[in-house]
Amino acid sequence: MSIQFGPEYVRAIAPYQGGKPIAEVAREFNLDEAKIIKLASNENPLGMPESAKLAMQAAVADIGRYPDSNGFELKAAITAKYDVPAEWITLGNGSNDILELATHAFVQPGQAAMYSEYSFLVYALATQAVGARAIVVSAKDFGHDLPAMLAAVTDDTRLIFIANPNNPTGTFIPAAELEAFLQAVPPQIVVVLDEAYNEYLPPECQYESIAWVRQYPNLLVSRTMSKAYGLAGLRIGFGIAQPAITDLLNRIRQPFNVNSLAQAAAVAALNDKPFLQKSAEVNAAGYLQLTAAFDALKLIYVPSFGNFVMVKVGEDDGAGARVNLALLKQGIIVRPVGNYGLPQWLRITIGLPHENAAFIAALKSLLG
Ligand code: PMP
Repeated sequence: MSIQFGPEYVRAIAPYQGGKPIAEVAREFNLDEAKIIKLASNENPLGMPESAKLAMQAAVADIGRYPDSNGFELKAAITAKYDVPAEWITLGNGSNDILELATHAFVQPGQAAMYSEYSFLVYALATQAVGARAIVVSAKDFGHDLPAMLAAVTDDTRLIFIANPNNPTGTFIPAAELEAFLQAVPPQIVVVLDEAYNEYLPPECQYESIAWVRQYPNLLVSRTMSKAYGLAGLRIGFGIAQPAITDLLNRIRQPFNVNSLAQAAAVAALNDKPFLQKSAEVNAAGYLQLTAAFDALKLIYVPSFGNFVMVKVGEDDGAGARVNLALLKQGIIVRPVGNYGLPQWLRITIGLPHENAAFIAALKSLLG
């Protein structure tokens, strides 16, 4: 009999399945890599900002040295932009790092972490990795059911994950509902408000979550540079919370968890308002392009506040996988969401106009 390593709760973890890389799809389906269109991982179709590229190139000169463990310059840029003290900031190797750090810091094996059905998969992974119990609350209209989440709180609940906007469904919780929830959550429970897609919110939906951190000592706001800022490959995100939370996260993070190129690029990107503006504009136009096509094809989609949209491609539970495979054969990578419990749906990242058009043409040829 072979030896089984590690605890049962680690062995039970299902591996994370991300969007397929372009090179892998090219090999698998014998396609020209240059012609493949990837709308699978909620990346920024504009790529990275030029300002970040220049900053990174300059930082290469120092790559023989360790990065600044405390991220002084980057924290200063975040402080200036969001008006929070540097002591309230935790830098992460992607915002995934922040989510995992929070789980490690605040939840013991056997205690519970809560999240919504159809919410970001990393919440489940992080919860399992520490041997905690997951309380998964049924979604309402594909989004968070906050009253049901409150009702499901147990004595041993230590952490609640909320994604706003949510991935993969794109749903949005208005500020008033969110704040009522924060007021009602027992104060010993840390609420991780994961705002990976915050920068895509239209002006009328924007809210002051970072200001809420002053009011709610149990609130940890998580942001990423992977989406609207176009730096997914560098892996950089940050958390904002009062020192009682931030101190613990910083104690358990790896000392050099954010590399020096990422730090330099992030400082430039944070200050690059025109790029952020353009990201939001391209996204809004692409959303209209995709949803107009879904309407024309009479396909149901979930109205989205992120840089992606989830569309129903059939009535049977094989539909998502089937249409996904047919799209892959045409060199178009999107994201099946069967592993989220949504086997009839695909999640499409909003791309550039010609990328959206190529996807729409392929979808039409399959379903039109
Ligand atoms: N939160 C949500 C809701 C996400 O969709 C993602 C990216 N898929 C992340 C966090 C993590 O992004 P990153 O680690 O690149 O910051």
